[in-house]
Amino acid sequence: MYAALPHIFRLPLHSPLQKIKVPAFEEKAVELYIKRDDLLHPFVSGNKWRKLKYNLLEAAESGKNRLLTFGGAYSNHLLATAAAAAACGMSSTGLVRGDEQVNNHQLFLCRSFGMELHFIPREIYRNQKEALAEEYGGPGTCILPEGGSNAMAVKGCAEVLEETDATYHHILLAAGTGGTTAGIALGASIHMPAARVHAIAALKGADFLRSDIEKLAPGLHNWELHTRFHRGGYAHYDPSLLQLIQDFASGTGILLDQVYTAKMFAASLQLLQEAYFKPGEKVLLLHTGGLCGYLSLAGQ
Ligand SMILES: *Cc1c(COP(=O)(O)O)cnc(C)c1O
Repeated sequence: MYAALPHIFRLPLHSPLQKIKVPAFEEKAVELYIKRDDLLHPFVSGNKWRKLKYNLLEAAESGKNRLLTFGGAYSNHLLATAAAAAACGMSSTGLVRGDEQVNNHQLFLCRSFGMELHFIPREIYRNQKEALAEEYGGPGTCILPEGGSNAMAVKGCAEVLEETDATYHHILLAAGTGGTTAGIALGASIHMPAARVHAIAALKGADFLRSDIEKLAPGLHNWELHTRFHRGGYAHYDPSLLQLIQDFASGTGILLDQVYTAKMFAASLQLLQEAYFKPGEKVLLLHTGGLCGYLSLAGQ
């Protein structure tokens, strides 16, 4: 076995926070900043790094040597888990939704990090996660939920705002399962009590996320969930969203992905037009990473 020591979650990594110039924001005299969690790691990307940190530290502490988790064939969480396991000297197993033997670039990367993949019929995947964990788990295995959202993920995400002394009026981020939102809202309640957290749902019909977020971070009133920016559904996008990614990339040097972060940025422009943000206020975008998903559009 090779090993990188200390592993990535023991390195003191902080992501940069940059001011960016976007004409629509400048016209309204609203300051725009971006927290670059996409730069934490190319594959344990963005919020997945935050969500895995304490899960992996705890797994190592309790002598686990294998991670088992669940995800769709394009899941950033699967890839992050595969890369994180390898970086911590553990093996990994991914249970993939759908029994077609897919070999897309995301799963290619998972395999490159040594992840063992099993394709699970949708019906079973949906209803029998516990039985699957039993079947594919075993001694020394740490089981992570789909999307990685649990109490330790919330703890990791809550640290994002500890890395800045400045204060912001609004914080925007993309939401899938809501685990990151719960952590950011918790962190904001402690470190930035005047800030309002805006979670932009990447999926359609996401009202159920409110109670999921409330369960992970109970009793907070500093966040709201916006459910109208999904563009047709999870992983749906249109030419105008791709144009927005190109404009943002060529204007700032920062790439966004079409599944999560571009929808969050598009939402910020719309909320700006609707005067959610007042002149002189500071808005912070959280770049949650996920750029492998964007790269997969190349050559399509
Ligand atoms: C997974 C992911 C999210 C969603 O995070 P949740 O904690 O599930 O809400 C947001 N952005 C990116 C880039 C992701 O990969």
